[in-house]
Amino acid sequence: MKITAVRAIPMSDPVPPERQHRTDLGTKVKSDATLILVETDQGLTGMGAALGTPPVVAAIVEHELAPDVVGEDPLFSERIFEKMYNGSRVKPALERGVPQAEVSRRVGMVMEAISGVDIAVWDVKARALGIPVYQALGAVRSRVRAYASGGWAPGDEAEAELGAYAAKGFTAVKMRVVGRDGFSLENCVRRVDAARRGIGRNVELMVDAHASLETPVAIRIAKALEPYDLAWFEEPVSPDNHAGMAEVRRTTRIPIASGEREFSRYGFKSMLEHGAIDIAQPDVARAGGLTEIRRIAALTGAYDLRLAPHAWGSGLLFAASIHAAMAAANCHILEVSQGYMPMMNELFNEPFDIRDGYVCAPDRPGLGYTLRPDALERFRYVEGPEYEF
Ligand SMILES: [Mg+2]
Repeated sequence: MKITAVRAIPMSDPVPPERQHRTDLGTKVKSDATLILVETDQGLTGMGAALGTPPVVAAIVEHELAPDVVGEDPLFSERIFEKMYNGSRVKPALERGVPQAEVSRRVGMVMEAISGVDIAVWDVKARALGIPVYQALGAVRSRVRAYASGGWAPGDEAEAELGAYAAKGFTAVKMRVVGRDGFSLENCVRRVDAARRGIGRNVELMVDAHASLETPVAIRIAKALEPYDLAWFEEPVSPDNHAGMAEVRRTTRIPIASGEREFSRYGFKSMLEHGAIDIAQPDVARAGGLTEIRRIAALTGAYDLRLAPHAWGSGLLFAASIHAAMAAANCHILEVSQGYMPMMNELFNEPFDIRDGYVCAPDRPGLGYTLRPDALERFRYVEGPEYEF
């Protein structure tokens, strides 16, 4: 089997004005994704998706990555990843066994584009094998515990919002440190207190600071939130401040989670060397696709750290995250967005199987999902930023 073409299609999912709300990230006006199609001479096509700015990602795929991928056999998925990563130096890199990444391909939007192509390669490879991706990767389970990810409600309204997630059957729920009513230490404690009331003692509660705090403030928040028995404190500080993250971790008994903004195993290696985290959160559509997330799982496993993949984006990103979760022994939980996400939940003909607080893997070949007939028309790309301040 040979890959004959790699195509990239920019997509957007506008948020209707009545659903838009302001958070510490700004006002989200749309979600973007780049659909990646890997076509083969056997008539099988694989699908993936990348994060990043869609027209830029599409240009990277067309001009940089497609020439490395076309002509390859999808069963050689590891080699295809290495070709994309090492670029013109792939030959010495593989002959000598020393990675020699092309400078722009290590991180950023190029790594996001590589991630999308890698997911599509795994989809077509598993389709050719006639098995689901997670079984091609090496299955460890066929369902994984899920957590409801949301929690933006202001003040005491967090009680009803988080309580409603628990009522859906989730045994773990996550809220934002900064609510729609803005940030203060006092308000943060009030909202977490309300959330704990809403879910009771037996549901796990996590908080996410979106990498928005400076180290001393993160330390104060962690101290103030210790009575609420949190399962983790996510992204307390900038992903460029692994030392600060480690400082927060040393001062609190709350486990620290981070990783959604990291690229490749090297981003995770730095966090591990700093002793910065207890839970690793790679994003399959950013960190390097299924090939690299598997390496990250192995690397973090060697530190006895658990994996909780970040899974916030299109249906393709979520589908790939499901398969990653089923194939990583140290994955204990998977994120399920409670936000406004039609491009996640209404992209495919097949619904996601989420019940009783678990995400179940599809038993169909490949990623296991097919695009709805109107998907490309409905999610046509719209220029402009995803967030407005
Ligand atoms: Mg997060």
